[in-house]
Amino acid sequence: MKSVIKKNLFLEGKTKKIYNTNNPFQVLIHYKDNITACNGLQNKFLQDKGILNNEISTLVFKFINSCEIKTHFIRKINNREQLCHKVDIIPLEFVVRNIVAGSMSKRLNIKEGVRLLNPIFEIFYKNDKLKDPLINDHHAVFLGIISYEELNNIYKIISNVNNIIKKYFLDKNIILVDFKIEFGKDHKNNILLSDEITPDTCRFWDKKTMKKLDKDLFRMKLQEDVLDIYMEILKRLNVK
Ligand code: UDP
Repeated sequence: MKSVIKKNLFLEGKTKKIYNTNNPFQVLIHYKDNITACNGLQNKFLQDKGILNNEISTLVFKFINSCEIKTHFIRKINNREQLCHKVDIIPLEFVVRNIVAGSMSKRLNIKEGVRLLNPIFEIFYKNDKLKDPLINDHHAVFLGIISYEELNNIYKIISNVNNIIKKYFLDKNIILVDFKIEFGKDHKNNILLSDEITPDTCRFWDKKTMKKLDKDLFRMKLQEDVLDIYMEILKRLNVK
């Protein structure tokens, strides 16, 4: 295995930093110790959260890779960093919902917890100035971000990913309520599942008690320190 040399910082987001490497087609993704919500209005330092999210996302992406779905993830390098294929992120957030919660509950005035007969897919346009508005396929194509063919391809992938990770989490007594995921294009124009899958980007409920096990506790100011909850998720994922 060729050794990875970390080079310049290429991008910094709210919870991750991306570094170039000695391979032009690969990057190092570094997980920071921040937790943020409400478009960055809530932002807190949480010692070692990055270590937990790096490990949680590694386990989930390893599982997805083992199901022959193409992702950006290559391997974990150290406790805060993972090696990934370099992609141009498509500026769309895809949300997959199995149970009503969060913005869908508020927008449509439906009680949180209502089970959906079929998963619902939503697209949010990643644009800080516009505060990431909810858009549809036609808007995304009109904006020149993506083609209908690519969207159909992505819908097939997220449907597949949802089915496999829903079961993966349920086996660990975790209900996958909803999640957000992003896609990127590599240098050969392949569409790869990218981003992270962690309690920052998913709603997880305990199978028995239906208690929240994710960032909602911070977002809704129900609990200041959510580190033990993230640890609980990791503990469950590690149970064979
Ligand atoms: N989500 C995310 N990043 C965002 C917005 C949402 O990871 O910028 C995740 C969120 O954790 C949840 C799902 O996407 O699992 C659906 O979020 P929702 O649209 O309900 O919005 P929110 O309640 O976060 O405003």
